[in-house]
Amino acid sequence: MPRTRASALFRQTFGGPPEVVAAAPGRVNLIGEHVDYAEGFVLPIAIERSTAVAIRRAPAGAPSRAVSEVTGEESFDLPTARGPLPSRSWANYVLGPMRELIDGGQARACNVDVAVASDVPLGGGVSSSAALEVAAALAYRELAGGTSDRLAIARLCQRAEHRYAGTPCGIMDMTVSACATLGHALLIDCRSLALRHVRLPASAIVLVFDSGVRHRLSDGGYASRRDAVERAADALGVGTLRDASPDAVARARDDGRLDADAAAKARHVTTEIARTIAAADALDAGDLAAFGRLMYESHASLRDDFRVSIGELDALVEAAADAPGVYGARMTGGGFGGSAIALVDRERADAAQAFIGDAFRRRFGRQPATFATAAAGGATVAPYVHG
Ligand code: ADP
Ligand code: MG
Repeated sequence: MPRTRASALFRQTFGGPPEVVAAAPGRVNLIGEHVDYAEGFVLPIAIERSTAVAIRRAPAGAPSRAVSEVTGEESFDLPTARGPLPSRSWANYVLGPMRELIDGGQARACNVDVAVASDVPLGGGVSSSAALEVAAALAYRELAGGTSDRLAIARLCQRAEHRYAGTPCGIMDMTVSACATLGHALLIDCRSLALRHVRLPASAIVLVFDSGVRHRLSDGGYASRRDAVERAADALGVGTLRDASPDAVARARDDGRLDADAAAKARHVTTEIARTIAAADALDAGDLAAFGRLMYESHASLRDDFRVSIGELDALVEAAADAPGVYGARMTGGGFGGSAIALVDRERADAAQAFIGDAFRRRFGRQPATFATAAAGGATVAPYVHG
């Protein structure tokens, strides 16, 4: 358990118990990809893997110290820190949310000792960054006395990721990590931030396959897609593509306002928003077959229109389509690497997982890292119980 491991690492590093331990899950997005920054809808679940942050006030006069099981120790002065630590340090994901709480007047400034443990894969497209940020924010808020609600935590973690990690991410990852409820996917309206908790039938489970190809949102592919989406909205005369329909995109292509490439990108966004709403309704109706079809359509749109898939992700989705008990599959996350998911009948999940893994290995000569997850609950925080 990350919680237990974070507490153990804390004792080992700092020679005493933490005061507070928070844990926040990673996520996979079931459908609604590359639409958050167009103010569309997304439908993620929190996964049964989380990052735990154990924390206490630092001894008087001492700076903040942060350790993680997977990285070296970092030190900083939280009360006087202004902006990110140099060299893209991992500790920016801890420092950033804490500084945002302080700068927003939601927590007092003090130095802290922090230990981090996680079973969320890093850089695998399941948002280890949001898990760390949300856990760090909740732990520090509990320690330093703030009162912000869960959505406010999500928003300030997004700001922290922009300002301290330099990643122009949307609001989805932090929102689902902070706000999910057990057994439910979370439909997020990225315009209003209205949330709808949609039950995921217990008969279905999500398989996650890591393509093994690492992406960085800050590397340009993501930013160029965002630019394209914004330019398409301008050409269509709307504030965001949320206010455009697939028909309006087709007309704009026909009369030359959008070139073929821009039209394809805008078609992805507008059809994906419609698919995501339809998918939430299908889940509400318990129609997993309809949900699965929408997942395949989403993948095809990301591959052909939005052009963010890669061969490894396509191969995982193709294998899933032939595997036993699979309702649907698609790439998930920003693309250019990361993971693919399959929604599968729980009884046949083991067989499907082996089938898809074997197909991938035959093609790429290595076994993909994989895990199964149901829809988990959101982040938790509690005083550390001595023991
Ligand atoms: P993703 O969010 O898809 O996993 P990102 O590149 O956004 O990938 O975030 C990964 C980065 O977050 C890591 O490189 C590291 O700096 C930081 N990080 C996440 N989890 C941890 C952890 N448990 N310990 C230390 N750093 C972490
Ligand atoms: Mg991330």
